[in-house]
Amino acid sequence: MTKATLDEVTVRRRFGPREVIFRERDKASEAFIIESGRVEISTDVGSERKVLAILGPGEMFGEMAALDGTERSATAVALQDTELTLIVHEQLRSRVEAAEPILRLLLRVILNRFRHEQSLFRHVGNGGLETVDMAEAESSKLAIDKIKLESELRGALARRELEVYYQPIVRLSEGVTIGFEALLRWRHPELGNIPPEKFIGLAEETALIVPIGRSVLSRACRDLVSFQERLGREVLMSVNVSGRQFAEPSFLSELKTVIDETRVNPRSLKLEITEGVLMDHRSRPLGWIEGCKKLGASIALDDFGTGFSSLSYLASFPIDTLKIDRSFVRAMGLDPRSLKIVRAINQLAHGIGLDVVAEGIEEEFQRRELLLMGCELGQGFLFSEAVPFEQAVNQASSIAGA
Ligand code: C2E
Ligand code: CA
Ligand code: CA
Repeated sequence: MTKATLDEVTVRRRFGPREVIFRERDKASEAFIIESGRVEISTDVGSERKVLAILGPGEMFGEMAALDGTERSATAVALQDTELTLIVHEQLRSRVEAAEPILRLLLRVILNRFRHEQSLFRHVGNGGLETVDMAEAESSKLAIDKIKLESELRGALARRELEVYYQPIVRLSEGVTIGFEALLRWRHPELGNIPPEKFIGLAEETALIVPIGRSVLSRACRDLVSFQERLGREVLMSVNVSGRQFAEPSFLSELKTVIDETRVNPRSLKLEITEGVLMDHRSRPLGWIEGCKKLGASIALDDFGTGFSSLSYLASFPIDTLKIDRSFVRAMGLDPRSLKIVRAINQLAHGIGLDVVAEGIEEEFQRRELLLMGCELGQGFLFSEAVPFEQAVNQASSIAGA
């Protein structure tokens, strides 16, 4: 269909002087944008007609009723030859449904309030706020929980309730700790420990991950220096970095500042990123990765095998380490194909000169199998979960001395 016919058939509509576009109480299905001309919006209060607005080109009207699909709250009349673009209910509805839950909730609250005020203004109806159906109520509750959690998270950051724990990364052959992964913990005064799954996603959505990630990075670097002093040897520190942090223009300069201030050896620092970061071309990942490497830090690709795992990433980006996701390690004993996949990942990684770290090793046979396929490094509950700094130091010194 050409543009002209599309305009004529569905999108544009013309009205002459004093022609009614819609009347108060009409069932609503669309909103309008004025292309040319003028439109008067009015409402009846008792026997009187009250003009609410005179609108001109570029302005929108009829959107409230079109949003909730109820009746018109006012009458719209063209004051002169007027051309309007139609926005059908479906266009609005599909966007509202696709919107972020908190925005949807806000919209619903605003619409409810609008209808409520209107009924007071006209002295009609019972004036009560509309009730929402159960499905809506459920999504409202989720949205409210989410917004509360976000406020709490902001408070947690300010009150320093976020702590960094350390999970040892060990040499699988003898169990010696060669490094640690820094993992965030939220020690909530009433709710107890809240696991990262419950708040990292939210932190990423709201960009709170930027100050949170910054504090994890500087804490982990300071602790890395202390680990090396206390253990009397070099160890590595792996820090998770989310895409949002990479996308900050100041990321590299902040990384440099942390390295300088903590006087950490950047060669001992490894940044863990996921495939999602590599796929987001807008944040130009190659530039960031090369910048980190220039500063001396290395890069690990986290959760390998769970995302899109395109082998082209391995060729296009200067990655140093692959971390095999724990779902593969878990499945190794359950199905022979997973075992073969893990073996193939190891061969591939070693073939192109990458280190491999297996995640989520819980059982002795997994450690043995991984060693047989040439995977030298791993982490998992078989060795230790993530623990506070002091405990991590004690464990690492006792295992090293064993
Ligand atoms: P991840 O980066 O894949 O971290 C490994 C997760 O596996 C950790 O969960 C760790 O406790 C858990 N794990 C380690 N060994 C085992 C095992 O043997 N069995 C099982 N079942 N689990 C094991 P955790 O600490 O709950 O962290 C979850 C995720 O939260 C992390 O997954 C990471 O994606 C994210 N995260 C944690 N800290 C940070 C942070 O500082 N920044 C960012 N951006 N993300 C973080
Ligand atoms: Ca990780
Ligand atoms: Ca992982």
